[in-house]
Amino acid sequence: MNQWQIGKVKITRVIEMEVKGGSKFILPQATRDAVKPMTWLTPHFADEQGNLIMSVHALVVETPTKKIVVDTCIGNDKQRSIPNWTNLQLPFLEDLAKAGYDRQEIDTVMCTHLHVDHVGWNTMLVDGQWLPTFPNARYLMGKKEYEYWDKVDSDDLNTGLMDDSVRPVFDAGLVELVEMDHRICDEIYLEPTPGHTPGHISVHIESEGEHALITGDCIHHPCQIDMINWSSSADFDADMAIDTRRQLLEKYCDADILVIGTHFATPTAGHIKKNGDKYWLDVS
Ligand SMILES: [Zn+2]
Repeated sequence: MNQWQIGKVKITRVIEMEVKGGSKFILPQATRDAVKPMTWLTPHFADEQGNLIMSVHALVVETPTKKIVVDTCIGNDKQRSIPNWTNLQLPFLEDLAKAGYDRQEIDTVMCTHLHVDHVGWNTMLVDGQWLPTFPNARYLMGKKEYEYWDKVDSDDLNTGLMDDSVRPVFDAGLVELVEMDHRICDEIYLEPTPGHTPGHISVHIESEGEHALITGDCIHHPCQIDMINWSSSADFDADMAIDTRRQLLEKYCDADILVIGTHFATPTAGHIKKNGDKYWLDVS
């Protein structure tokens, strides 16, 4: 678990899984030979052999008035095309409780985008039915994002996504569709970061002059801070995703803003720096 304080806002990371290697399916250009020269990635984000280290985690953002879960990981009991993501039986809810949050007290769930590893714990399997895991929460989803997934035939990676993790919370009347620049509360607003998916958003936290940004998957792995044009195989529009990444890095480099990645391994957060025409993530 990591925790950060941004003014009056506390952000807590609850890990579902952290894995080394096996990420080639998601970032095909990040071969071991291509990763090894990026020495700043070791030891946190890659090992000496060039294997990437990635994490799937939720971020609980607690403001003076709200308890928000940003992204809900893969979830238990879901049937997925990726073997390591299917039929999980992990103690995520116990770990959430250990971090100090009972699922009943979460009042907001925010999905940066609708992919299987960001919506899984929206629901849980109870007596053969998918029920909302956070029954007292409003589930915020991007309107544009929802409308896209509502109509499209899901791809191989995202099979089952709408039926087991999105529609059940919609049918329970808990979903609120929001614009991509929606403000959740005084301290939190959304920033549009499209490309990985059509309605992908990042979450900006601002309190007492301090800033943080939860990126979602517009930067999947820190290696894309160095190699901006390395695309994720899951990108909806790779060119748009590259543009978004470049704009975000330029906007926030050398700025006093903590960048918290949605799949960045421990320690998960740092500051964007620029060295010549290259960006990197300073986690010191
Ligand atoms: Zn993801």
